[in-house]
Amino acid sequence: MTTVAAHATLPKQYARLTEMLREADTLKSVGAMLGWDQETYMPAAAAPARAGQAALLARLHHERFTDPKVGELLAACESDPTLSAEGSETAANLREIRRDYDKATKVPGDLVAELARTGSEAQDVWKKARAKSDFAMFAPALEKMIGLTRRKAECLGVPEGGELYDALLDEYEPDARAAEIEAVFNPLRDRLSAFIADVKENGTPPKTDFMSRKISKAGQHAFGTAVLTALGFDFNAGRLDTTTHPFCSGMAAGDTRLTTRYEEDNFADALTSSMHECGHGLYEQGLPKSGPHAGMPLADSVSLGIHESQSRMWENFVGRSRPFWKWALPLANRHFDGALHDVDLDAMTAAMNTCTPSLIRVESDEPTYNLHVMIRFGIERAMIRGDLAIKDLPGAWNDSYKSLLGIDVPDDRRGCLQDVHWSFGLIGYFPTYSLGNLYAAQLWETINDQIPDLDTQTEKGEFGALLTWLRENIHRHGRRYTASQLCERATGKPLSADPLMRHLERRVKPAYGM
Ligand code: ZN
Repeated sequence: MTTVAAHATLPKQYARLTEMLREADTLKSVGAMLGWDQETYMPAAAAPARAGQAALLARLHHERFTDPKVGELLAACESDPTLSAEGSETAANLREIRRDYDKATKVPGDLVAELARTGSEAQDVWKKARAKSDFAMFAPALEKMIGLTRRKAECLGVPEGGELYDALLDEYEPDARAAEIEAVFNPLRDRLSAFIADVKENGTPPKTDFMSRKISKAGQHAFGTAVLTALGFDFNAGRLDTTTHPFCSGMAAGDTRLTTRYEEDNFADALTSSMHECGHGLYEQGLPKSGPHAGMPLADSVSLGIHESQSRMWENFVGRSRPFWKWALPLANRHFDGALHDVDLDAMTAAMNTCTPSLIRVESDEPTYNLHVMIRFGIERAMIRGDLAIKDLPGAWNDSYKSLLGIDVPDDRRGCLQDVHWSFGLIGYFPTYSLGNLYAAQLWETINDQIPDLDTQTEKGEFGALLTWLRENIHRHGRRYTASQLCERATGKPLSADPLMRHLERRVKPAYGM
């Protein structure tokens, strides 16, 4: 009798837990909606009011999510064998709720508030310091922010066998360890350096002058929208708007917002930005956000690395390929009033696959991009360890750019002040950019094995089979598996740098006549 009674009540507790988490998730999605508006259409004068709205929503979300009742219900569900059966969906949800709940309750509210306030101030100082290219002006704010971030990491706790930095990394790439990332990054760094040097010494740079031809923003928008529609982005459940810094916000079921930017003399920037954000958006649209897992971890993306693998796949593996341009070049000419009529397919493909070390990460090409990321990973890890004093940051930065990319950094604006991340405490975030590239490359090889005529489909502007593969192997799982499990399930192998190197060899060397 008691067993029956217990079973009759516990699923009810799961239903109650789900209900509470859905409410918390709804508060979060309202916050995301306000955030999107702030970056797109909000009038400047609304900034102070918006900050107040955002802070209130963040606090309400935190209160709901860390409600002791959530903890009680969670514990009750965890002790129910029917809910926690190994491999079940409910067990996966409970495991991930526990992860989030413990994290959210480990960091005291005062520290959360102080991080938010100091981060907002530090970001403001960073903007001014960057404009003046004056690192000394930013240093005290960064010092304070690093101190607070280290305190947060201490509250979260060092994972077993790990280091303090791992506690921060875990927020973005659950279960990843800095030492494991380093073990993949270091050999990749050496191979990339050798690759870039080889291209520089033995290759002939492709013609790229036609890439800066003047093309109207309206023409670029029409072309980008046509491409995104073909890729499978559901405009009935999403939008594409314009911002300074492109992003994607999968704010709710049926509501995924993409943003891009248009410059009249750089159509490729708009296209690659749109395809990148579309990759994030397709992942968001493929998560099971409505139905039984709504508001639960199984309806959420697994990690930033996997998220970035989706964006980089559509941006680079599809969007810089010859089969893609066989379809897209005539389409572009139709929308660009024939502005590229004299550019042939080989020239276009080559121009999309350049390799030139440069100063700015977000403007860098595919082969050099990961070196920018590795430099940041090394520096932020050293800052958290206490091995690098803040005042020595510009020197360490400039030395790394000289040794890895062979370039002199002329000023801090184009050096260590270029990224916003550290100003508001995003530490442990950078490595996920390169993990995304590595995951994308490895998935891409498996996809091409399993869809042998992928190139032929791409040449016709058909992307349905590719999207179905991603839906099946990545999107629909949400957080059911960890990122590395997901990769291994889909590709049969643990993460390796080999596929990315093979991809770069195939793409870049032909562009340089090698
Ligand atoms: Zn991205």
